[in-house]
Order: sequence, then C-alpha cells, then structure tokens
Amino acid sequence: MYDVMVIGCGPAGLSAAVNVRQRGGSVICVGTAKENNPLWKAERIDNYLGMPSVTGSQMMEAFIEHARSMGVELKKERVLNAFYTGDHWMMSAGADVLEAYAVVFAGGISRGKTWPGEEEYVGRGVSYCATCDGMLYRGKDVAVIGYGSADKEEAEYLEQIGCRTVYREKPKTVRIIGEKKVSAVEVDSETIPCECVFILRPSLAASSLFPGIELNGSYLKTDEDMATNLPGLYAAGDCTGRPLQVARAVGQGLVAGQKAMEWASNAKK
Ligand SMILES: Cc1cc2nc3c(=O)[nH]c(=O)nc-3n(C[C@H](O)[C@H](O)[C@H](O)COP(=O)(O)OP(=O)(O)OC[C@H]3O[C@@H](n4cnc5c(N)ncnc54)[C@H](O)[C@@H]3O)c2cc1C
Repeated sequence: MYDVMVIGCGPAGLSAAVNVRQRGGSVICVGTAKENNPLWKAERIDNYLGMPSVTGSQMMEAFIEHARSMGVELKKERVLNAFYTGDHWMMSAGADVLEAYAVVFAGGISRGKTWPGEEEYVGRGVSYCATCDGMLYRGKDVAVIGYGSADKEEAEYLEQIGCRTVYREKPKTVRIIGEKKVSAVEVDSETIPCECVFILRPSLAASSLFPGIELNGSYLKTDEDMATNLPGLYAAGDCTGRPLQVARAVGQGLVAGQKAMEWASNAKK
C-alpha cells in the first residue's frame, strides 16, 4: 500500500511525486513511455525559470532524474481503471493491481482522435500550444484548428505576435501535408499552405477513468488544494485547464502532492 499513487509521469505528476517524498511519504508514479509525453517532443523551451533553451527531452530527463534521486518509484504502464474502496484507492496498471490512500491524476490532456500526418509531424510543424511555439513561427504562415471560442483567442494571439494566421473551427476532416516538415494542411478539402498547424483540442479522458468526476468545461474541476470532488483524488497540470504550460503543471503538482500526502496521513490514523 502506497501513501500516494500518481497517474502520469509528466511535469505535474513528477512534481507531485517529489513533493510526497519531500513529506516522507511513499509514492509510485505510473505513466506511459517518456517518449510519448508531449513535452518530450518540444523543440525548445524558453519560458521555464532557471532552465532556458533546453529541449523538451532534456527537461523531461532532468525531471525524471530528480524524481528518482528523491526515491520516487516509477512504473511504465497505463492505468486502465480505478475505484475507491471506501478507505483507499485500487487501480490496475497493466497486469498489476496497485493500492494507495490517495491519488494524484496528472494525465495531461487526451488528444482524442488524431488526424492523418499529425503524430508524424509533432515538433516538426504540428503544435498543441500557441503560447509555447508561436514565437518560432513569427513572420510565417500558420493554421489554427480550433474546437471552441478560447481557441479563436489563441489564433488572435498568433496574429498579434506576427504569424500570418488562418483559423478554422471544428473541421470534419484534417490532413497534414509535408515532407520533412509541415508544408500545408488540408481542412475539409481546402488546402492551406503553412509551416505550422496548431491543433487546439480540449478533450479529456479522465472522466472514463473516474466515473462521477466533476468537470469544468472539458477540464477537471478542482478546488484551491487541487482536490477533485472524489475522496482522496487530486488533479494537477494540463488536465485542469489552461495555460497548458510546464510551470503551471509543476506548481499545481506541488500543491496536489502535498495535499494528497496530508489526506494519506489522516487516512492512516
Ligand atoms: C511541441 C510542444 C511544445 C511545448 N512547448 C512548451 C513550452 O515551450 N513551454 C511550456 O511551458 N510548455 C510547453 N509545452 C506544454 C507542456 O509540454 C505541457 O504543459 C506539460 O507537459 C503538461 O504537463 P502535465 O504533467 O500536466 O501533462 P503531460 O506532460 O501531458 O503528462 C501527462 C502524462 O500522463 C500520461 N497518461 C495519461 N493518462 C494515463 C494513464 N491512464 N495511465 C498512464 N499514463 C497516463 C500521458 O501519456 C502523459 O505522458 C509544449 C508541448 C508540446 C507538445
């Protein structure tokens, strides 16, 4: 039985796990391969304090190393289901069943159905974050595929910083075209030449993992302690809303880790 189990080994999950260890708790962090993490694919990160001009993979390696050095147990697996027994959580991760007093969900955002060419060109002209990658495309043609009104604002932001922006909302079909990098995107049979396609999906799958969890729009609803409406379940990072950024994920991970540990300590009394 762990004090805390963390789902997702991205910045939020690792930060939560480190902060459980900092409080003397036992913690396991379960996540899919680091190479599948969105941050791993980032060409360059310039807005995380103290770590300028690092690649996403360098940043992830540093986070993972830090967590390991603090005694965080890491497990490469997908969490398939979870339920609360009345005094603790049980989860299946691959073939294993894990138990913990409290859980931090830090699963990022579910990208939903991917479009042809999308996975192939992530980091080479496909981006999920205008604030993160917009500056790389100043003075260049970009396309924004949006799914809600907030996405139009991101397209406007790109225009403001000097990207020549075409915005299309809720298309039925999208196909990314390129050779080594993106050169165009086909949206509902209209071909838009561009160097980057920003795909801004707000979709989320945590609701299927945790039936009854409350949402705030498409994101998980939490209070200021990062607690969800379910007992002993906390959430942190991109799964709780925008901006989808590392610094926010790490900060929320700290709060969620500390509060989950507090819950576990009370549950053990
Ligand atoms: C190309 C690119 C460039 C970016 N550039 C920047 C930048 O410059 N600056 C910046 O601040 N941010 C940037 N970001 C955003 C940054 O990567 C995210 O904000 C950050 O990774 C969010 O951290 P997180 O821990 O909340 O979620 P994630 O990093 O998404 O981690 C969640 C992890 O949980 C795993 N997971 C989900 N469900 C399960 C499950 N059931 N079982 C097991 N594992 C699960 C996922 O596979 C994923 O690995 C960029 C992102 C991309 C894609």
